[in-house]
Amino acid sequence: MENLKFEEMNLSDDIVRAVKDMGFEEATPIQSQAISVIMDGKDIIGQSQTGTGKTAAFGLPCLEMLDPENKSLQALILCPTRELAIQVSEEFRKFLKYKDNIKVLPIYGGQPIDRQIAALRKGVQVIIGTPGRVMDHMRRHTLKMSTVKYVVLDEADEMLDMGFRDDIETIMLKVPEERQTVMFSATMSNEILDLSKRYLKKPEYIKVTRKELTVPNIEQSYFDVKEKTKPDALCRIIDMYSPKLSIVFCNTKKRVDEVVEQLQGRGYFAEALHGDLKQAQRDKVMQKFRNGTIEILVATDVAARGIDVDDVDIVFNYDVPQDDEYYVHRIGRTGRAGRSGRAFTFCVGKEIYKLRDIMRYTKTKIIQKKLPTLSDIEEIKTNNFLDQVKDVIEEGGLSKYVEIVGNMVNDDELAATDIAAALLKLALNDIISSDFDDDINYGGTEIYGDAGDSMVRLFINAGKKNKIRAKDIVGAFAGEAGIPGKSIGHVDIYDDYTFVDVPGEYVKDIMTAMKNSKIKGKKVNIEIAKKK
Ligand code: ADP
Ligand code: MG
Repeated sequence: MENLKFEEMNLSDDIVRAVKDMGFEEATPIQSQAISVIMDGKDIIGQSQTGTGKTAAFGLPCLEMLDPENKSLQALILCPTRELAIQVSEEFRKFLKYKDNIKVLPIYGGQPIDRQIAALRKGVQVIIGTPGRVMDHMRRHTLKMSTVKYVVLDEADEMLDMGFRDDIETIMLKVPEERQTVMFSATMSNEILDLSKRYLKKPEYIKVTRKELTVPNIEQSYFDVKEKTKPDALCRIIDMYSPKLSIVFCNTKKRVDEVVEQLQGRGYFAEALHGDLKQAQRDKVMQKFRNGTIEILVATDVAARGIDVDDVDIVFNYDVPQDDEYYVHRIGRTGRAGRSGRAFTFCVGKEIYKLRDIMRYTKTKIIQKKLPTLSDIEEIKTNNFLDQVKDVIEEGGLSKYVEIVGNMVNDDELAATDIAAALLKLALNDIISSDFDDDINYGGTEIYGDAGDSMVRLFINAGKKNKIRAKDIVGAFAGEAGIPGKSIGHVDIYDDYTFVDVPGEYVKDIMTAMKNSKIKGKKVNIEIAKKK
């Protein structure tokens, strides 16, 4: 079906003019198909992706069908979050630019209820609200549902995911049986169909799929990983690409919390965004993400839906998404506003079949990539550091330091290149210390990073014969003694014993914590190693 012009849709001049002022030239596919059906009074389920104009698809017919003379509540629009409620009501206000006889009010948690009650008293014909706050008003009898004729369940999948099912039920029982109900959703599930069977009457199902599902300026790749190497793989890729902002998508809330803990434990600025957070907490997290205090946002699909941040460099699918649509939604968080972006998916074993489905669905190729090796990361970090050095030279103001180096050259008879090399070594020791070994790709036991001067070498009476690997030790020290895994230096594992370099300041903590703890199920004895 061709996209329709707004003039061709039986809409009043006031509305068409307002929509034109908004810069809408023609209706989007979901609008072209849904508007006339809704204006005919039918119930519908509308499915189309985020950003395809669903608000106008239900909003324009809603505003046309209202009776401006009747000051009682006529339309109820339920949205999953405060942001969406505000967004929808702002859009409605624009549609109403040339119609001043219709009052629209958003109601959501977090805003003083008294103010909402006062606004409601003045007479409101359209309410756009979150289920929780709407119920609140119903309980207080500040919202009378008996005159409602038109109900919209917007972003229904998201509302279900957020656990609003019971609330929706309660609300729907209070609106008159005699009404029109329309439901919009970006994805379709059995739960959604179930909901539609309960509350919609002979609904027409309108589905729009886009031909081009993904944006061309996103580089899409996947990494073949094991479940347990995902945390290491994630850190390694982040180290490799140094994204300013990235989003890590997980399939469950529990998973989100795990990943955040792992990332924070390794010194990354990461925080969680999921449905268990209160609105105020979410706002805070999002604000920190926007201003860069958090570099990595770890999120569930639902929580991330409304995110509006333009400069996300990488989207990680830490878990392969369960729904093809989710993949499209997720990666659409990067490569926005003309920028380029990357989407990396972790794929475990048979999940490759799911990924092939996604490729078929999105009609794009997702290319396999190898995880960066430690030497890749070393190279990149060295190069970055050298770039910084060049910048510092360019900035100038180095005379004080030139003098110190000059003295070393003259008095100690050292070569300037040797001094520079030693400084580089010291600096890189700080930058390149990693808390994972290289057996993601191949089974080495060496951990990267040399111990600097302030490091103390510890002796552990267990080694290869006890199947101890570097990461077991790092894990035990980090977990039991609470020291940052990144701070641990060189680990040398021999058959019966192991040497580990740790920062001097942590020695006491480690010795105390490890007194009663085990590594790989073995009780170990740890001592400060004798100097070579
Ligand atoms: P959805 O609910 O499907 O995610 P929205 O209704 O929020 O999408 O619309 C996404 C954006 O597209 C909004 O900025 C909206 O103003 C704009 N938009 C909607 N319809 C049109 C149209 N016909 N032409 C141009 N822009 C549109
Ligand atoms: Mg929407």
